[in-house]
Amino acid sequence: MAVNYADFRDIAIEDYDAVVVGSGFAGAVSARQLAEEGGLRVLVIEKRAHIAGNMYDEYDEAGVLVHRYGPHIFHTNDQRAYDYLARFTEWSSYQHRVLADWYGTYMPVPFNKNSMEIAFGDEKAARLIEKLVDTFGDERKVTINELRAQEDPELQEVADFVYQNVFLYYTQKQWGLTPEEVDPSVTARVPVFISRDNRYFQDAFQGMPIDGYTRLFENLLGHEKITVCLGTEAESVFDLVFAGREEDAPLEAIHIKGASFEGPIVYTGPLDELFLGRFGRLPYRSLDFVYETFDETYHLPCGTVNYTVTEDYTRITEFKWLTEQTGDKTTIMREYSRAYEDPATQIPYYAIINDDNDALYARYRRLTDALPNFHPLGRLAEYRYFNMDKVVADALAASEKILTETADA
Ligand code: FAD
Repeated sequence: MAVNYADFRDIAIEDYDAVVVGSGFAGAVSARQLAEEGGLRVLVIEKRAHIAGNMYDEYDEAGVLVHRYGPHIFHTNDQRAYDYLARFTEWSSYQHRVLADWYGTYMPVPFNKNSMEIAFGDEKAARLIEKLVDTFGDERKVTINELRAQEDPELQEVADFVYQNVFLYYTQKQWGLTPEEVDPSVTARVPVFISRDNRYFQDAFQGMPIDGYTRLFENLLGHEKITVCLGTEAESVFDLVFAGREEDAPLEAIHIKGASFEGPIVYTGPLDELFLGRFGRLPYRSLDFVYETFDETYHLPCGTVNYTVTEDYTRITEFKWLTEQTGDKTTIMREYSRAYEDPATQIPYYAIINDDNDALYARYRRLTDALPNFHPLGRLAEYRYFNMDKVVADALAASEKILTETADA
C-alpha cells in the first residue's frame, strides 16, 4: 500500500503507540516491525521533504536514477537482513567495481594482483605476489597497516606504493586530516587484496533494489498502522523534560503536543542536535555532490573511479553502472569532502571517530540512558559508520527488544 503521509499539525498524538524519528533504514525498519509484529500505531517524523534517509534516489532530468546522498550499493553476508529487505524489493545482481585513477591510468581498487601488474610491471609483480601469498596466504585481504609493518624491503615497497598512490591523498581529501590523525579503525578499512577478483565487495550477496531505494522505502513504510510526517524536526516537536537544572541532568520525559509520551521512541538522528548542542557539536565530515550529464552511453569504465593522486574531488560515480539502466545519456557525480560546519545547510555524513569525540558522544548518550522508552539507533544516533545491512539487522533486533519490553510492561 501507499505511504500514509500527514501534516504533523493535524496529528493527535494519543492516536499513536510509538514514535520513530527518521526514515532511513534504522527508522523505517523499526517502524515497520513495531507496526507489523507488535500491532503498534507508529508515527514517523522526518525532517527532510522525503523518506529513505541517505538512500534516497530519484530520476534526474535525463531520466537517470541518481542517488542524492552518495552512491549506495547493498552488500551483505547477513542472510536475515537480506531476506528481510527482499520482502520489499527485487534485487539486481550488480557487482560494484572501483578503479583508481593513477595519473590517468586506471587500476583496480582495492589494490590487488591486477593493480600490482599495472603499478610494477608483470615480472616484478609476479615476484611480489609470490611473497605476499607466502606471507599472508592467497585470496586474503591485508590492511595498509599490516603491510607497512612488514620488514621485507619488497613488501615495504608495495606498502609504500599503496600508501602513497592509493591511500594518502585520498584519505587527506576525505578527512581533511593527515593520515596519522585518522582513527586506526578507518585506516584498517583500506585493504590490499591478494586476489584477481576486481569486485569492490566480496560479500555473499550484493545488488541494487531493482526499482530503486525510494521505492523500497515506500514499500517498507506503506503500512496501515504507519503515518509519516515529512518536514518535521524532532527538536521542534519534542519538549524535553530533565531531572534537574544542571547541564548533565538526565532526560526524564519527552512531551509531544503537551503530553508526556510514554510509548517507545526510536530516535535515529544525531543526539547533539536533539540537545541543541549543549556540550558542543559532534564533529562530522560532510560532502558536496556535483552532477553532470553527458550525451554518451557511458562516461566511465566502471561504477566508481577514485582520484587517489590528483583532483580535489575524491571520486566520481556513474549511476547507470549501478542501476543498469540503458539510454543514450548518462549522469555522473563528483564527490567533494567538506568540513561539517553548519547543521542548517549541511548533512553530517561521516562521524569523525576518536577518543575526544567518543567521550563527547558518551556525555550526550548519558542524558538519555535513564529514559527507558528512548531508543537511539542507527549511524547518527550511535555516532558510528554503519553499512546498510548492519543498520537493518540492528533495527530488527532493537524492535524485537522493544516489543518484548512493551509486552512485559
Ligand atoms: P540515515 O540514512 O542518515 O537516516 C536518518 C534519517 O533521520 C534521515 O532521513 C534524516 O533526515 C532523519 N533525521 C535526522 N535527524 C532528525 C531529526 N532531528 N528530526 C527528524 N528527522 C531526523 N552503506 C552501504 O551498505 N553501502 C554503501 O554503498 C554505502 N554508501 C555510503 C555512501 C556515503 C557517502 C555514506 C555517507 C554512507 C554510505 N553507506 C553505505 C552507509 C549508509 O548510508 C548508512 O548505513 C545508512 O544511511 C544508515 O541508515 P540510518 O537510518 O541510520 O541513517
